Amino acid sequence: MDFELRYTPEQEAFRKEVRAFLEANIPPELEEPVDPANLSYEQYLMRRELGRKLGERGWLFPTFPKEYGGGGLPMELAVIIEEELDRYGLSLPPYYNTGGTLGAPCILVWGTEEQKRYFLPPILKGEVRVWQLLTEPGAGSDLASVKTLAVRDGDHYIINGQKTFVGSLHGADWMWTIVCTDPNGRRHENLSWFMIPADLPGISMTPLDLLTAGGEGGASPGAKFTVYFDNVRVPAFNLVGGENNGWKVATTHLELEHGGAGSIRRNRIVDRLIEYCKTTCRNGQPLSKDPDIRDLLVECYIDAEIGRLFNLRNYWLRHTRRPRTYEGPQASLHRKVSGLRIAEAIVKALGPYALTNDPAWDPSGGHLEVFHRASIVATHPGGTIEIQKVIMARRIGIGRAVREEAGTVV
Ligand SMILES: Cc1cc2nc3c(=O)[nH]c(=O)nc-3n(C[C@H](O)[C@H](O)[C@H](O)COP(=O)(O)OP(=O)(O)OC[C@H]3O[C@@H](n4cnc5c(N)ncnc54)[C@H](O)[C@@H]3O)c2cc1C
Repeated sequence: MDFELRYTPEQEAFRKEVRAFLEANIPPELEEPVDPANLSYEQYLMRRELGRKLGERGWLFPTFPKEYGGGGLPMELAVIIEEELDRYGLSLPPYYNTGGTLGAPCILVWGTEEQKRYFLPPILKGEVRVWQLLTEPGAGSDLASVKTLAVRDGDHYIINGQKTFVGSLHGADWMWTIVCTDPNGRRHENLSWFMIPADLPGISMTPLDLLTAGGEGGASPGAKFTVYFDNVRVPAFNLVGGENNGWKVATTHLELEHGGAGSIRRNRIVDRLIEYCKTTCRNGQPLSKDPDIRDLLVECYIDAEIGRLFNLRNYWLRHTRRPRTYEGPQASLHRKVSGLRIAEAIVKALGPYALTNDPAWDPSGGHLEVFHRASIVATHPGGTIEIQKVIMARRIGIGRAVREEAGTVV
């Protein structure tokens, strides 16, 4: 059995085209970020520009239907685009945009034809960036308890409430959210899903002061905010999936966010850690010669490889539209738990040097320090470790008479 993808000559020809395009369109100043919390506005703009150029070709969201601004490409060609971007430390999209990765699939599954034609092209072509606004002070893991209220008023809904731990550095054009539309309704049957222009009157935000808001990778957000809605009038057209049907819409993005989207990326931090240990000497010899450290590195290597294969499988399941059960939470759980193990290995191998990103002491350029700090934070977004276990148990039939179905994804 061969787990790796093999490419035909035609697919390799496509790779050449992608490589040439990226060489011509990725400016030399575009850096692989060390800490997303420091992503400058200039670097952000370069990524947006690259996103637009990819979008023009349908390569920003390559497997989405062409008629809505995607590329209509098969999975193998999407993997090639991702692999070529990965050579630059980038992924699709090359900046934080959960509108495309999570919001657009919801609109594709649950939106009307008119809504698809209105909302999808700007997202899939990279013209707008969209945040996801789910969590509230009293509703994180228990998302169905959201209290932000939307009340119908003619052709609009009036929204009041607050969302927290949301957003990213350098703003957004639109926001998608889940709110309550029937405070007295039954649980899961009282919610609605909206796409909201970020510049509507009554929307304000304050930044959160966090340990970090992202780990390694260009798609990390860099910052988080609390967003307030004060009598915000949103057109009824922006309600996707119908009133009080929001939980069904949420099953689509939750499925993807809980590991179901998959990825082709390997955890590069392990390669950096191995390189660090091979090139950094203590007591007259490279760290990698120490049998205890070698032990740790092998464990980390195995974790990274398991994670890569889980994610690649999920990417394949998603883009070939195969049925799935527990695979999403399995990959997410493994990423989060192995991230903590790798962080521990970093601390054990580097000792106090794990706490600094001063280049004089850290030849990884700060990547190891940022990863180790972010690994604890990274157990929260998109469902905590405990929540992934709860979902996985339901999917494999532990503790429930009927197995839980995976969310609808196309
Ligand atoms: C860096 C970062 C980025 C984020 N980005 C976003 C974003 O873009 N958009 C957004 O909407 N939200 C975002 N979040 C919020 C994130 O989704 C929540 O933090 C997460 O869902 C957990 O919710 P909570 O913090 O309210 O914790 P709680 O839900 O209050 O959980 C507290 C603890 O209880 C445990 N727990 C809860 N329920 C159970 C259960 N049933 N069984 C066992 N244990 C349980 C949890 O695992 C956790 O350890 C982000 C958070 C962080 C830290």
